[in-house]
Amino acid sequence: MPDFVIPPPAIASVPVAGGGAFPVRRVFCVGRNYAEHAREMGSDPDREPPFFFMKPADALLTGDADMPYPPQSNSLHHEMELVVALGEGGADIQEADALRHVWGYAAGLDMTRRDLQNQAKKEGKPWDMGKGFDASAPIGLMVPASRIGHPARGLIELKVNGKVVQTSDLSKMIWNIPETIAYLSRLVKLAPGDLIFTGTPEGVAAVQRGDVLDGVVEGVGTVRTRIV
Ligand code: MN
Repeated sequence: MPDFVIPPPAIASVPVAGGGAFPVRRVFCVGRNYAEHAREMGSDPDREPPFFFMKPADALLTGDADMPYPPQSNSLHHEMELVVALGEGGADIQEADALRHVWGYAAGLDMTRRDLQNQAKKEGKPWDMGKGFDASAPIGLMVPASRIGHPARGLIELKVNGKVVQTSDLSKMIWNIPETIAYLSRLVKLAPGDLIFTGTPEGVAAVQRGDVLDGVVEGVGTVRTRIV
């Protein structure tokens, strides 16, 4: 080990249902992966290959912790998503092989400073500060694929203060999980510990301080946070 000149950062992790913790290396996110959400954001869902952005691993918020309303924004949006956790890495992964690289799944929220993201889009600038801010990725317990299999369909839903605001089905993803892993692995060499937020269905909207967010992915689990 090198002789670190400051204390090395902690390893980000997600608690696993039944015990233990999944160590996180990188957090990738898929943009516009449900047709109705692509349309509500003003895009044509039929013409775009998948695209990706990232959040820092330490943007993950675990244990149903409260999420502080982020600075520099007046438009914090929820995006309810299925999260894939890789137990094995690789480059140029074949679709037929992709699910073998998956360790497990979780329910997550790709929280977004929509005003900063929209400004960046308009100016052709990077999305990072709209997407990758502190505590921008609340996530529920990780569940191993060895226990639940690989979800290809099932309800994905988010309630805010008990009212359903996003509801869809995992089968409506434009790029399914094997296709997403294969595509991303042609852009970067994937590694154990990488997470992929697989995109959100329609119904994204702003939340306020005091709102309670309750998300569920059928057969996977839940994610919960309160905006403070
Ligand atoms: Mn998203």
